Amino acid sequence: MMIHEIAPEVLDNQYRPTAPEPEDYVLFVEEAEVLARITEDTLDYDRVKDLPADTADLTYLFDISGRKFFLAGRKPGREAAYDALLEERKEKGLARIRRREILRFAPRHLAYAGALAAQIGAWYENNRFCGRCGTRTVHSDKERMLHCPKCGNIIYPRISPVIISAILDGDRVVVSHYAAGPYRHYALIAGYNEVGESIEETLRREVMEEVGLEVENIRYYKCQPWPVTDTLLFGFFCDVKGSRTLKVDKSELSDAIWLTREEAKEQLTEDNISLTREMLMVFSRGEEPK
Ligand SMILES: [Zn+2]
Repeated sequence: MMIHEIAPEVLDNQYRPTAPEPEDYVLFVEEAEVLARITEDTLDYDRVKDLPADTADLTYLFDISGRKFFLAGRKPGREAAYDALLEERKEKGLARIRRREILRFAPRHLAYAGALAAQIGAWYENNRFCGRCGTRTVHSDKERMLHCPKCGNIIYPRISPVIISAILDGDRVVVSHYAAGPYRHYALIAGYNEVGESIEETLRREVMEEVGLEVENIRYYKCQPWPVTDTLLFGFFCDVKGSRTLKVDKSELSDAIWLTREEAKEQLTEDNISLTREMLMVFSRGEEPK
């Protein structure tokens, strides 16, 4: 299972702004991180009815199973009221939580909603002014798009494609440790698509750069939207071609090794949200696409 798989709940991410209703959710985002009320392993957010009227600008975000989510923001001319409201909500238990951290809380659909709200909130914050001419941007009333009323520049949320590749040699898979970053468990080789590349070319280039292997028989597995880094992850299995010797790029990875199916199973992390984990699990069971 991956974090965006929230069934039986259903995300409707179309931008269809409507008037907020008392039971709808209001999410606060500060410095690209969402604020939530955490109780042990569960989280919750404020509802429209919890907030005094007219203190915040409420921007439509999305709908999950018929319940709408709004992003709180400063109302022009009422900035001080918003800041006071935010402080008051923090005193009543709202706390800032990192996007990667929020994903482990229950219920799953609210955790995913929080990460998406942080992603969209950061996009608004980063694009308040036109990058071309500096004029304040305005939101389209038809779609999730900002445009510049002066020069016509249009801005959509930026989503970067990334490959994740499980490189196989029969019953072995290549896993790596990243040199930087907080996560010490093993990962699959991953990397960003660059200008002008197909996603398969990204895979071949990243695999060569990071571990010095040539690959063939590239087969698509699944895709995962990953709001933590504004990326869309494309998971592939592929087979090593030629030399099996790993030549590790030490500036990117601290280590890379071959694991058997049994060893891959032992390395599985507890979390049940990531494409990497699912691919390693599928491999450990011998169920990868052939
Ligand atoms: Zn402009």
